[in-house]
Amino acid sequence: MSDSLPPCPACSCAYTYELGALLVCPECANEWAPAAADDTGDAVIRDAVGNVLADGDTVTVIKSLKVKGSPTGIKAGTKVRNIRLVNGVGDHDIDCKVDGIGPMQLKSSVVKKA
Ligand SMILES: [Zn+2]
Repeated sequence: MSDSLPPCPACSCAYTYELGALLVCPECANEWAPAAADDTGDAVIRDAVGNVLADGDTVTVIKSLKVKGSPTGIKAGTKVRNIRLVNGVGDHDIDCKVDGIGPMQLKSSVVKKA
């Protein structure tokens, strides 16, 4: 189907094939997970415009957010420093501390890398 599959890392056989998420070698029956594809999306958290975010990044909140217990909430344009990415906690995937508000979690879809 595709001739771009990598050869078997164990025996260099070129006739590898895909089996679900794994690659399989017909020669030595080796099974392995292929090297991360470019755009799997799973492990990568992107901001509202598609920049890949990383721990320690500074981001800008792009829209005003209501925050429970805060009369002002977070205003659009608020800078948030030193974010920490958290995976799979609802759709809040950024753990951070917002000046004047305190520790909280944000959605990557409402921030832009600064
Ligand atoms: Zn093999």
